[in-house]
Amino acid sequence: MRSPSSAYRPATTACDVTTLTLRKVAAMTAVDALLAGLAAGEVEIVDLTAPLSPETPILQLPAPFANTIPLSLEVVSDFDDAGPAWGWNNIHTGEHTGTHLDAPVHWATGRDGYSVDAIPPQRLIGPAVVLDFTAEATQNPDFLLEPEHLEKHVANNGPLPDGAWLVFRTGWSRFNKDAAAFANADQDGPHTPGVSAAAAQWLSQSAITGFAVETVGVDAGQAGGMEPPFPVHHFLLGANKFGLTQLQNLDRLPATGAVIVAAPLPIVGGTGSPARVLAIVPA
Ligand SMILES: [Zn+2]
Repeated sequence: MRSPSSAYRPATTACDVTTLTLRKVAAMTAVDALLAGLAAGEVEIVDLTAPLSPETPILQLPAPFANTIPLSLEVVSDFDDAGPAWGWNNIHTGEHTGTHLDAPVHWATGRDGYSVDAIPPQRLIGPAVVLDFTAEATQNPDFLLEPEHLEKHVANNGPLPDGAWLVFRTGWSRFNKDAAAFANADQDGPHTPGVSAAAAQWLSQSAITGFAVETVGVDAGQAGGMEPPFPVHHFLLGANKFGLTQLQNLDRLPATGAVIVAAPLPIVGGTGSPARVLAIVPA
C-alpha cells in the first residue's frame, strides 16, 4: 500500500534510476566476483590458523615474570544430567594463546593505541606480502630480518602496499606440535627467527597494517637482549600497528596477490585475542 506522503515525493528521473542502478551493480560486482570465484574454484580459502588445544605451545617467560595459561576446556555439560540434549564448555586461556593478534595496548609504547575491540575492522583485512626466509631460518634459527632485506624487496617489487600484512615465512610452523622444538630454548633462552631492531623501526614507518609470523611471538627468540628489547613489539605496536603470530600453511600463499582476513575476538579493553586467520588466494 502506498503511504499518503508518497504522492508528494518528486518524480524520480530516468537518469537517477540509471545512476542508482549502476552504483548498485558496481557495488555488488566485487562481492559477486568473489562469490563466483569461490563457486568456480578460482578462489581458495587457506586457513592460516594453528589448531587451538591444551597442547598448543605458548610463550614461557623466565622468572620473575608471570605467564598466561594454556588452553583448557572445562566441561559444563556433555549430554548428561547437567544438560541432557547439549554439550558445552567453559574455556580458560590467555589472550595471547596460539594463533593470535597483538593489539597496540599490549605494549608500553602502544598503551594509548587500540585495544583489540577498538581496531577498525577494515584494518584487519589487507593484502599479504610474503617474504620467504625459510632457507635462512632453517640454517640459522636466530636469523634476523634486516633493513637491507626489506629495501631489496622494495627495489624489486615497489613499496609495501597500504594496509598490507607483511608475512615473515620461516617454516617454523613445522614445529608447532612439539612445544620444545617450537621454543628451541637453551641456557640462553629461545632461539627462533625474527627481526632486528633497525628492521622493526623500518617497518613501523612503512604503510603496513601489521607483521605476521609463524613463531610464538612477533619478536625473535633472543629479542629480550636487543636494544630496545622486543623491538617489533616496541616499534610496531607503538605505531598503532598489529602483530599476528603462530601462522601455518604459509607455503600455500603466493608472494603477493592473496588477502589476509584476521578475526580476533573483540575483547573489550583486551591486549590481544586468539584469532582465526584466513587467506583468500587465487587458485
Ligand atoms: Zn602476543
